[in-house]
Amino acid sequence: MQEAEKIWMNGSLVDWADAKVHVLSHALHYGSSVFEGIRAYATDQGPAVFRLGDHLKRLERSASTYYMPIPFDRDALRTAVHQVIAANGLTEGCYIRPLVWRGYGVMGLFPLDAPVDVAIAAWEWGAYLGEEGLEHGIRAKTSTWRRIGSTTIPATAKAGGQYLNSILAKIETHKAGYQEAILLNEAGYVADGSGENIFVVRDGRLITPPVNASILEGITRDCILQLAREEGIEIVEREIARAELYLADEVFVTGTAAEVCPIREVDDHLVGEPGPITKRLQARFFAATLGRDPRSADWLDHVDVSASAEQPT
Ligand code: PMP
Repeated sequence: MQEAEKIWMNGSLVDWADAKVHVLSHALHYGSSVFEGIRAYATDQGPAVFRLGDHLKRLERSASTYYMPIPFDRDALRTAVHQVIAANGLTEGCYIRPLVWRGYGVMGLFPLDAPVDVAIAAWEWGAYLGEEGLEHGIRAKTSTWRRIGSTTIPATAKAGGQYLNSILAKIETHKAGYQEAILLNEAGYVADGSGENIFVVRDGRLITPPVNASILEGITRDCILQLAREEGIEIVEREIARAELYLADEVFVTGTAAEVCPIREVDDHLVGEPGPITKRLQARFFAATLGRDPRSADWLDHVDVSASAEQPT
């Protein structure tokens, strides 16, 4: 990874190399952490964090699902994100990773007496599924691992331990030679990619699994739904059978890391080069992130790099 200089940890900026935890931290043993993945983009008016408030809200919801009180409020976390960007001089855009975890002091499964720690790191991270993938689409494969069901673990929370599910699917499909995994839910319908939501276009309509299909309520998914509405594209939120992916006119995935990435092939069925609806929504999305579309200006939280750098930690 592309290291930066400073990481915000429990209220202060520390050197990248010093942002450490004890090996007996609760989260390391049981996956008891929650996190976010956020991007900032380089706009004409400097770096701007994309949908920061919504990401911090989801972080709070994930934490509260696991009875984890975050010892900083939303304003403090927002300021900390700005500081991390400024302190590291990340004016060209970056990926931001807030992490809240149960720390050192308590072992065993009852976690409520463990301290809750918070860190925010940021670094430069290019296209998660590759520039080539964004332009021409990626090859995806359905994993044999099912997406965690909401009666087992709340699929709507973004918690560390939950990602073991995505990791198994990712490794399986990577070893088979594909760039991304698609997970079906326990009922056998399409749920998510390993770190993305999924969309299908058929006969001009945009179809995506509903939030009760064991998906993560993606913020990029929400952007695409809003942009599609503005574009007058019909949206259907319904269960998608696996084979519908093979019959689709277009398929794409969305996520903060993956952005809006077309799928060219699913399970060795050719979907083809990115189609017109994918391209239209992808263009709208990137225009929004780069601050080139006044209609979505309120999705951007501009960082005043010089002011944030001066703020006390
Ligand atoms: N589904 C899963 C399983 C994910 O990990 C992610 C990434 N956070 C997403 C969907 C997309 O969410 P977002 O657009 O908020 O990044």
